[in-house]
Amino acid sequence: MFQRRLETLDRELIERLQVERLKKTVARIKEKNPKYWEKIGKPEPEDVNSLNDLKNFPFLTKEDLRQNYPFGLACGQQCEFVRFHMSSGTTGTPVVNPYTPNDVEQWGEIMARCLAAAGLNYTDVLQITPSFGLFNGGFGFHYGAEKISCFVVPIGPGRTLLQLKFLKDFNTTAIAGIASYPLRLIEVAKEEGFDFRETNLRVGIFGAEVWSEEMRRYIEREMGIESFDIIGMTETGGVGLGIDCKVHSGIHVWEDHYVVEIVDPETGEVLPDGEEGELVVTTLTREGLPLIRYRTRDITRVLSRERCDCGRTHLRLDRIKGRTDDMLKVKGVCFYPRQIEEVIMKYPEVLPNYQIIIGKVEGKDVVELIIEAERQDEYLKERIEEEIYSLLGLHVNVQLKKKGEIPRSEGKAVRVKRCDK
Ligand code: ZN
Repeated sequence: MFQRRLETLDRELIERLQVERLKKTVARIKEKNPKYWEKIGKPEPEDVNSLNDLKNFPFLTKEDLRQNYPFGLACGQQCEFVRFHMSSGTTGTPVVNPYTPNDVEQWGEIMARCLAAAGLNYTDVLQITPSFGLFNGGFGFHYGAEKISCFVVPIGPGRTLLQLKFLKDFNTTAIAGIASYPLRLIEVAKEEGFDFRETNLRVGIFGAEVWSEEMRRYIEREMGIESFDIIGMTETGGVGLGIDCKVHSGIHVWEDHYVVEIVDPETGEVLPDGEEGELVVTTLTREGLPLIRYRTRDITRVLSRERCDCGRTHLRLDRIKGRTDDMLKVKGVCFYPRQIEEVIMKYPEVLPNYQIIIGKVEGKDVVELIIEAERQDEYLKERIEEEIYSLLGLHVNVQLKKKGEIPRSEGKAVRVKRCDK
């Protein structure tokens, strides 16, 4: 729901509330977990008097959380927690976030705000396609939906034919999913002669993956919907850290629950608004795993701290450009997969399935870009190669494939592969 008073607080009041809650968070860490308190330099809550004091705290990294699997940094005993969610990381030890009853409540509140920001209310029908399980997505949407009392279709991932059937049968008005899932829906809908415009669907809320503006326009056009970009991760307490509103001029972060900073990924120096860097999150209301200056690895920037046309005053971030760990470096050129996606999605003949393959041939780095397209002609191939060269200064070898030739994944899309010949 729209929490008018909290979402439209003047900046001075937001910051006052943030300092007060930061003190409480530090006090909780001190009381509940001496090891964690020592790790952050044993600060006394009364020493925190402004947001500027945050700069004195060390960063917390994903590695720190992994090394403390499962409850090393948790603030509370297991009997105080009601369950956990876990990061979907593909390598190494997972990251676990234990939830107290208040954490579940907090999550529901921020998710309800996100749904309201996307224009949903009790008359809506929300089809939830992320999984209900260790991954936080399904439950997050579910709690938010319960708070705004809309009708939930708790289908979870996959079963795309059934998804389309339910869209019609249950009069779904909004769909939530990871950002590559609508591509699968669109593909199957085309095969089945299913027309989204004959349904009640009007809103899509997508996240958990980096998706370009061009991809977004493709999804909106094909599905006849307005889309919203939602952010959040297991570490911060799940999906719902922020979302863009109907004005679509940046992602509002719920600042009464989180403090965000943008830092230089190399030096850790805090960057001024407008400059691109790594997103660092401090939680203000989480109990089970409060975070102080957590380095998310997401690359973005602060767009504005002014009041938005929607009335909300909570600051706005740019859409996530990439993750520090998916930055690719080939022949001395650094780039993100999203930059390649932006180029190829401009061509109407190109289908939204692609893979970037990085490998070595006779000791030299080569980049192959495999794209599905309606037609496979030399002219299209050369135009894409030239455009990428002029954007990045990098020569890529484009291969155009027929529809369906790139394997699909049920979970997050696999966009980059390494292959040494
Ligand atoms: Zn807004």
